[in-house]
Parts: sequence; structure tokens; C-alpha cells
Amino acid sequence: MTKIFIDPGHGGTDPGAVGNGLLEKDLTLQISKRIRDLLLEYENTQVKLSRETDQTLSLNQRTNMANAWCADFLLSVHINAGGGTGYEDFIYPGTGGATAAYQNAIHEEVMKLVDFHDRGKKQANFHMLRESNMPALLTECGFIDNANDAAKLKQTTYIEKIALGHANGIVKAFGLKKKEGVSELTPEQEKIRQEAIRLRITDGNDPFGEVNRMYLWSAIIPLARRVEELEKKQK
Ligand SMILES: [Zn+2]
Repeated sequence: MTKIFIDPGHGGTDPGAVGNGLLEKDLTLQISKRIRDLLLEYENTQVKLSRETDQTLSLNQRTNMANAWCADFLLSVHINAGGGTGYEDFIYPGTGGATAAYQNAIHEEVMKLVDFHDRGKKQANFHMLRESNMPALLTECGFIDNANDAAKLKQTTYIEKIALGHANGIVKAFGLKKKEGVSELTPEQEKIRQEAIRLRITDGNDPFGEVNRMYLWSAIIPLARRVEELEKKQK
């Protein structure tokens, strides 16, 4: 069993960074929940979030929770601020081995899916990295006070890409296997799926969920009608 602890940064009375009409605590929760949902498609994988709602938690409470649960990995998700742009992630200074390998995998997979400026793989003496008993990574997914980054963070599809990048990295790092019956998409199929999400041809809020037949028909009928009309005009 692989136990992944995900910590959505900030929450409750602590909004984290604020800018361009966005709150860090909301974005970190959105991203973290999607990472959890994606990871639950894998065998022998348990996922625990430090918070599932807009809840106030101290840093100690967060690391205590992860330590008590005996997580194999801790991921703390944040959004940056302070006048920069792009994505970066941190491990505790001087850690190598598994922790560095996990950072490599997650960094690479996130950067494959997003077009954030790559600020690199870094090290920092952060509480979440220092006080956790297991390998830990803290990611900073764009700058909330940068207009370009914020415009991306406002898109559901972009949040999805950030989450999928994290999930793919964890899958790679821990060699997780998809549960049977959960489809494996080829890169080409994944492109088509992303286009469907962009055009809002998805099953409600969950683009990874199964689209039922009635939903598919109702999405396709307006397109078919338009084609029918165009054909009539040409005659
Ligand atoms: Zn933060």
C-alpha cells in the first residue's frame, strides 16, 4: 500500500497569497482534490488530505497528521506570490535519495503539461519539509500576483493540467498501476480528451468520469443540427 498525504496550503482564516481576484487557499484545495481523485484510480494507493474544506490548520497540525498516518510521501501544494512567474518545487536542503527522485519525477511531469516558466528544482528549510518524517515536496504552482499566471490559474482546464502533472509524477515515482477497468489513454486520446474538456463536452465537473450515452447525445445533437443546416444551405 502506498500512502500519499496531500496538503492543500493555507485555508480558513489564512487565505495565503491573494491577487487578481484569486485566493491561494482555494486554488490549493482545488488542485489537491483533483490530485487525490486521479490517484484513487490506482491500485493499492491511499490518499489523505490535510483538509477537504476551507479549514484553518497550523503547520504543526499538518505535519503531525502526516506523521501519525505514516504516509510514504507528503506533497504540500502552494501558489506563489511576490513578483515572479512560473512553477518551482522544494525539498529539504541536503536530502537526496528517494526525496530527490520524487522531486525529479513530479517536476518533470508537471512541466510536461503546463506552460509555466520553469523556475527549477529547489531546496528550502520549510516547516512542511523539515517536520515531516517521510520524503516531502512542496510545490509552488504559479504566481497569483502575476497577471499571466493568474489568468491561467482561473481556467479549470489549467488547474486540471497542474493536478494531472502532480498525479503523473507520483504515479511514476511510486510505480503505481492503474486499477482494472480504468482506461489508459494514449497521448493522442489524451489530446482529444483535453479538446473535449475545452469545448465543455464533458461529464459535468469530472472530465475523468464516465460520460453516459444520454449526455453524449445531448452534446452531439447541436453539432449535428448545425451540420444539417449548413448542408441545406449549400444545396
Ligand atoms: Zn503558500
